[in-house]
Amino acid sequence: MRVYCKECGGKGRIASRDELSREFARLYCQCLSPACGHSWVANLTFSHTLSPSAQAVDRLLFDRLRDLSRSQQRELFDQLGALPSIS
Ligand SMILES: [Zn+2]
Repeated sequence: MRVYCKECGGKGRIASRDELSREFARLYCQCLSPACGHSWVANLTFSHTLSPSAQAVDRLLFDRLRDLSRSQQRELFDQLGALPSIS
């Protein structure tokens, strides 16, 4: 990922990153121009999904199941267990 110095317009480098969450990181940047020497922090954030992860549906289903009460879960699994197996 390329970063540019806002003071001189030159190329910068990301010296380190602080991963605050999966969706937010702080990038510690340094200008590569010796005549400038500007250093700064940029934020890298998740914006929005263009195409959903194949894992998203599984996770959604799992989260929904987990939110059910124990008795609702048992009822559901009893029903699933009662389904004829496809062979
Ligand atoms: Zn600079």
